[in-house]
Amino acid sequence: MILATRNLHKTREIAAILGLACLSLEDLPGAPPLREDGATFDENAAAKALQLARWLTSPRATPPRLADLPADDPAGRLLVLADDSGLEVDALGGAPGVYSARYAAVETGAQGNSTDAENNAKLLERLANTPEGQRRARFRCALAVTGLSRSGELSEPRLFEGACEGRIRFAPGGAGGFGYDPLFVPEGYAQSFAELDASVKNAISHRARALEHLRRWLRQGGPA
Ligand code: IMP
Repeated sequence: MILATRNLHKTREIAAILGLACLSLEDLPGAPPLREDGATFDENAAAKALQLARWLTSPRATPPRLADLPADDPAGRLLVLADDSGLEVDALGGAPGVYSARYAAVETGAQGNSTDAENNAKLLERLANTPEGQRRARFRCALAVTGLSRSGELSEPRLFEGACEGRIRFAPGGAGGFGYDPLFVPEGYAQSFAELDASVKNAISHRARALEHLRRWLRQGGPA
């Protein structure tokens, strides 16, 4: 499976949850930056999967060739998977939402993603006067998967969604995970995702839930 991401944390989580070896953009020299300017997680995930799949079928100066990539099914097809995810905070009207990766830069106009520390600091500042009972939030994950035949035919991207409810702490805690994990306490737990063991996060997270739908679909035969 080929993942349309440069985020090593996402790659690690997806590979661990699926129990599969996955290649990512980091393994594909010359892969272009993938546009993600859609209004929803679904739109962005589908756009990223399609952009990467089209690039893999295009004549390229740099390897690997389509024929050299490992197949995901007996027909020799590859699966290209994109994850678009983020945090929705009720007290902020659903922000940062699709802007989660570049939340700190949204108003400054800075290009590219912000650091996790900058995003977390902005979130805490925006919630400084929000009391405990009003700090409800959820992570959402949209996955888009497209099948790619050796002759370069793409299947229509298929979408899977997952969410994980929780709340935002008043201060970061824990060193595991990535992104907003130090601030997010999943429902039913007292610790943040960054404090909980990775195996706990990978059992209950938004990504785990979306991947469970994907796994069920793959068991039923995957792309037509
Ligand atoms: P994307 O790469 O455009 O999908 O951006 C996702 C952003 O959402 C990341 O940069 C994180 O800030 C946040 N995010 C998504 N999933 C997680 C997670 O599992 N833990 C913490 N933050 C996450």
